[in-house]
Amino acid sequence: MDYETVIGLEVHGQLLTKSKMFCSCSTDYVNAPPNTYVCPICLGMPGVLPVINKKAVEYTVMTALALSCTIPDYTKFDRKNYCYPDLMKGYQISQYDAPIARQGWLVIDSNGTKKRINITRVHLEEDVAKLWHRGDYSLIDVNRSGVPLMEIVSEPEISSPEEARDYLIKLRSILRYLGVSTGNMEEGSFRCDANISVRPRGSKELLAKIEVKNMNSFKAVYQAMEYEARRQGRVLEEGGALVQETRGWVDEKGTTVSQRSKEYADDYRYFPEPDLPPLVFNRAWIEEIRAKLPELPEARRERFVTQYGLPLYDANILTGSKATADYFENCLKLMDHNKAKLVSNWFLGDFSRLLNATNTEIGKAKITPEHLAEMLSLVDKGTISGPTAKAVFEEMFYSGKRASAIVAGKKLSQISDAAEIREVVKKVIANNTKAVSDYKAGKQQALTFITGQVMRATRGRANPSLAREILIEELGGK
Ligand SMILES: [Zn+2]
Repeated sequence: MDYETVIGLEVHGQLLTKSKMFCSCSTDYVNAPPNTYVCPICLGMPGVLPVINKKAVEYTVMTALALSCTIPDYTKFDRKNYCYPDLMKGYQISQYDAPIARQGWLVIDSNGTKKRINITRVHLEEDVAKLWHRGDYSLIDVNRSGVPLMEIVSEPEISSPEEARDYLIKLRSILRYLGVSTGNMEEGSFRCDANISVRPRGSKELLAKIEVKNMNSFKAVYQAMEYEARRQGRVLEEGGALVQETRGWVDEKGTTVSQRSKEYADDYRYFPEPDLPPLVFNRAWIEEIRAKLPELPEARRERFVTQYGLPLYDANILTGSKATADYFENCLKLMDHNKAKLVSNWFLGDFSRLLNATNTEIGKAKITPEHLAEMLSLVDKGTISGPTAKAVFEEMFYSGKRASAIVAGKKLSQISDAAEIREVVKKVIANNTKAVSDYKAGKQQALTFITGQVMRATRGRANPSLAREILIEELGGK
């Protein structure tokens, strides 16, 4: 039988606020010793009173607006009760039936086909502590406990592992453009759980929701979705039944394993958080936030096409990440706008290749936009040739030195002195009698070969058009 896959994603993004969700503890805990960023409030001691972090609400509203959500007038926090070692107080402050936003959407572009994925809701909650499992015991670090966590829930409208990956990439890009989250999946500040089920194609039947957790990279999400779709199809094929459960992705084995039967909302005994007032939104405040929204990836892509005349393909890649788009524009600010395609070529070519090969984020690259602009101006002025520029760029990438320093240190500047080139040309002609006679017999390729020999003898430094001109002259005319 032919099955279709139905996936809904729940994404948690830590918000980049200075303090935690309900107390004044710092959120800058990543390199801090365990259990040092904690107070009675984020520990949930009896008698303490939480206070809502306004910035976290603002960031959530920003995200909701960027996702075209509806923001109701009224929202409130609820207690979600459950017992787990990472939640010392026995409940998490979250939002149940009155989230900050509902009914948004995101358009993904999978293999050139645009598809709208609806967003069910966006709400705000607090993060839990971090557990470190050490063989037969576990350690607990409370620093993360109480960090603002925004949850974005999609409708079950994602139909393949590819679409799931595209959705996550797009969503992360938006969060980064907004500056509300680092979106770093490896550090755990951007996490994803998936609900996945399969059913006979065309059927409207609702099947058991299988939740998959522990996916710590885009690749893991993709592989876990692929694995689950196959596994569930096989169970149905064999006449078995699927039950609502939570499964964990085991990266090393490439499989999911059953963790527990999935809780239903009732299991959490939600009730309104008694220590926090409900929030009534001031519409003027929402409109103020809307007016301040930064340019988002799609708008920036369109602008790159119209303002810089870039092909859509280039604009798409350059604006996919805010860091790359910023870098590109910072570089272009130092140059002529009509050089946009040239800069883009370096990005899509050598720069991307080296970043990928060394697994470096563009923000951490040793080549600054100023360095790149300077190197391109050396090519433009004819100080260095195209092939030399590639070698210089690679050295700049690894050493962080400026192009001018590398060129001066290695005598790499282009030779545009006719006399100097003529001397090399004469030597090459003397040493390549076979090719010279081929050329004189009318073989045009022989000229390409001899030109190559001149470039080689000058280690790519001869001005190519001047070298060719002198060569033809020395060979006795055209
Ligand atoms: Zn605290």
